[in-house]
Amino acid sequence: MTRRERQELIDKGHLLPLMEEFYTIQGEGFHKGTAAYFVRIGGCDVGCHWCDVKESWLAELHPPTATEKIVENAVNYSDTIVVTGGEPLTWDMGPLTEQLKAKGVQTHIETSGAYKLTGEWDWICLSPKKVKLPKEEIYEKAHELKCIVYNKDDLRFAEEQASKVNENCILYLQPEWSKRDKMMPLIVNYVMANPKWKVSLQTHKYLNIP
Ligand code: SF4
Repeated sequence: MTRRERQELIDKGHLLPLMEEFYTIQGEGFHKGTAAYFVRIGGCDVGCHWCDVKESWLAELHPPTATEKIVENAVNYSDTIVVTGGEPLTWDMGPLTEQLKAKGVQTHIETSGAYKLTGEWDWICLSPKKVKLPKEEIYEKAHELKCIVYNKDDLRFAEEQASKVNENCILYLQPEWSKRDKMMPLIVNYVMANPKWKVSLQTHKYLNIP
């Protein structure tokens, strides 16, 4: 395959820079506690300073992998596939999700929403970032809004984002892992005073699983 042909397949979403894939328990948000197969796609230029997967940022470091291969492997493990990153919407998620849906599995995405929404999703977890705001289209479609709280101002940002999502969207505040001891009391008080929000914890990190 020539370089150009390969780039075309990447541009069309038939090849995706696969960073890692693993079967585990979804630790966060609405589906926490559910066994799921995670597909982590490389590439992200959002640039959150507290990002815990900075190794994902450079797409070139992760091998362009055929979606057929990703699907074939994933469906052996679970009927819930969580596509995460990196920022998966850097790429066209159409081919991957079409093939997953053809196999009858549930497709979930974890995204900052910073890029055009592509793909067919049963569950969209929108985790907006101040440094690169979501595209407007995703607020209507998100099933859960997961706001990461690194400092007090993130509560203000969370409210701003909550005012944009659809009325069925479930609202979560989740402490950024390195700040959890400091932010947790703040979040607990905030959720009790504003019960439209729920607390989300990174339970997989407490369980010491991926
Ligand atoms: Fe990291 Fe996600 Fe932020 Fe990208 S959007 S920098 S992967 S936390």
